[in-house]
Amino acid sequence: MAFWGNAPEQPSQGGQPQQPQQTPQPQQLKPQSAGPAIGNIEESYQELVKSKGRAPGIDLAIKLSDMILEHAVQERASDVHIENQGANLRVRFRVDGMLQDMLNAPKNVDIPLTQRIRVLAGFDPEPPTSFRNEEGRFQKMIAGRAIQVRVSSFPTVNGEKLVLRVLDRQQLGLDLGQLGMDQEPLTVLKKLIRNPYGIFFITGSTGSGKTTSLYAMLKNINTPMINIISLEDPVEYRLEGVNQAQINAKTGFTWAEGLRTILRQDPDVIMVGEIRDYETAEISLRSALTGHLLFTTIHTINAPSIIERLFEMGVPPFLIASSMLGAMSQRLVRKVCTQCAQKAAAPSEAVVNEFIKNMDPAEGKLVKELIMKPGADYKVEKGCPSCRNTGYMGRTGIFELMLMNEDIRKQVLDHNPTDMIRRTAIQTGKLRTLLMDGIGKARSGVTTLSEVIRVTATMV
Ligand SMILES: [Zn+2]
Repeated sequence: MAFWGNAPEQPSQGGQPQQPQQTPQPQQLKPQSAGPAIGNIEESYQELVKSKGRAPGIDLAIKLSDMILEHAVQERASDVHIENQGANLRVRFRVDGMLQDMLNAPKNVDIPLTQRIRVLAGFDPEPPTSFRNEEGRFQKMIAGRAIQVRVSSFPTVNGEKLVLRVLDRQQLGLDLGQLGMDQEPLTVLKKLIRNPYGIFFITGSTGSGKTTSLYAMLKNINTPMINIISLEDPVEYRLEGVNQAQINAKTGFTWAEGLRTILRQDPDVIMVGEIRDYETAEISLRSALTGHLLFTTIHTINAPSIIERLFEMGVPPFLIASSMLGAMSQRLVRKVCTQCAQKAAAPSEAVVNEFIKNMDPAEGKLVKELIMKPGADYKVEKGCPSCRNTGYMGRTGIFELMLMNEDIRKQVLDHNPTDMIRRTAIQTGKLRTLLMDGIGKARSGVTTLSEVIRVTATMV
């Protein structure tokens, strides 16, 4: 498979748009090095150490942990990794899906940073001597707003590793219009989620923004006139006006049991966090037939594969065909940094031919036309201080929305394989694939072709 690599360091020639370099090695599209570590944490760390000399204490750890969290919120980090690596302390942030080194310091003095975080999370200050799963959370006012932090501890051979998930409500745009959907699919989706009954599926890898999309849909249709109930694991954010319940397998409140309970609660709209077994699937699809509107997620690689997954669980074809409204698959792509992005020419026909050669011919043709069509505003990433030399800043969604129609319904009833259903959906104009949607975003200069290919690589 051919990929488009980017050549951000190449000087442009005479103001001509840069030609993206063809790089046949997929590993060249792996996350780039994160650029220099931010000065402030490193410097502040050294200052803290210097100021206290050989007598560090918990007050230093408090200052350092506060500082790390402040930086994390400022940098829009979703996770903070604090790693004890023998004589070194390493702090990394995950920003826009990529890990970045923030602090690499020799532990020339022992600042009890991990103990401080352990106390905040409600753990014992000292890590347990034998392994046990430790999960905790705390809330802290950072940059003037309440930030939720979920903490997980892991015993490595070099010492304890802590991962802090930073849950910043402000980062969670719950407006359907802000997810990154194009106007046309957005209009279709808004209409679809106003059906009085039926089931709508969302699929996507971990961290693809599925939960955000589900919440945005619920928020979009939420009025005092309807009863919305959700089953989630975990409940990450509280949604006003929605009756959210937390799954708890230990007490018997499983997905299936939760659903049965919900059905006695006079619901209009039900959100089921995830369907992963026959029982939950069966109750969900049946309740979609009896006057309820359901939203749920399911783990598959693309929208048409959801049908295959339901077949595998043992759900009868007629039940799928009669209850399913449609499905959406999604991923997050990094947006190219507007401060430093450079113009790029469209890739050559040879590169595109190589790229599409293993695709279904009809789909490959559509993809090629879309890439080569004149009028694109392609960009390559470069790197500057404001994007911390990554070339990217922020993320947006790419979407594949599949609507049910008579052709697809018939294929489901015939128990046809996914690739056939997928082909029918594409040919009847009922499926614009993730890749096609991503190419559209690269064409308009929101992201780069290499980023779209990186994110959708498992799809083709
Ligand atoms: Zn930049």
